[in-house]
Amino acid sequence: MNKWMDFFFPRHCPICDAALLPGERICAPCGKIPQIVARPHCEKCGKAVKEGEVYCFDCLRNPRAFDRGFSLYEYKSIHDSVATYKNMGRPEYGEYYGAKMAEFFKDELERLKADVLIPIPLHPAKEKKRGYNQALILAEEISKATRIPVLKDYLIRPKRTKNQKSLGRKDRQNNMKKAFQLHGNDVKLETVILVDDIYTTGNTIGAAAAVLKSVGVEHVYFISLATGRGL
Ligand SMILES: [Zn+2]
Ligand SMILES: [Zn+2]
Repeated sequence: MNKWMDFFFPRHCPICDAALLPGERICAPCGKIPQIVARPHCEKCGKAVKEGEVYCFDCLRNPRAFDRGFSLYEYKSIHDSVATYKNMGRPEYGEYYGAKMAEFFKDELERLKADVLIPIPLHPAKEKKRGYNQALILAEEISKATRIPVLKDYLIRPKRTKNQKSLGRKDRQNNMKKAFQLHGNDVKLETVILVDDIYTTGNTIGAAAAVLKSVGVEHVYFISLATGRGL
């Protein structure tokens, strides 16, 4: 959107939701609120780990179908913002956040030499109700900055899954099994970067990565907006 559009339809700050001035993407005091994930990072999923640890608790216990992941912010620092982004009709938040993800991880993303970015899909009924897929908006912004194309409608989610939050650890894994399918069989990919808003236990990204690997995709990475311990 150009500045004239900003003037007539002001964007909203992704943190406090105040209307912004033309050209602004976040208000000055709120710019300090999102906290970058502290180092060191789990070498598998990118969550913060203690000094001297290589992998987080979840990655030590569970085999991962993905190769490696990166997350930008500590979830607790933008918890309310992410809820508003997804549930209150603020797709513009994703434009801000996707641009930040691309800016911060530009070098890593380019090094991966990925064929495509694939946003984690929503069940079609859920996407229709929400009006957008929050992961797709992030992927589109990352694509603008990195020129890695977005592949939509290949990884699909035909099964309705229960809200992961309502389930225990074991049920979360079972809930996500077979949640994803691939649509079309003429797509040949070597390296994929999955894109999602929140990385929690890794069951969602893991299930998506497993489906891609089952058809011969060699490397599956992911990038997420936010992550945190004990989600
Ligand atoms: Zn603000
Ligand atoms: Zn990990």
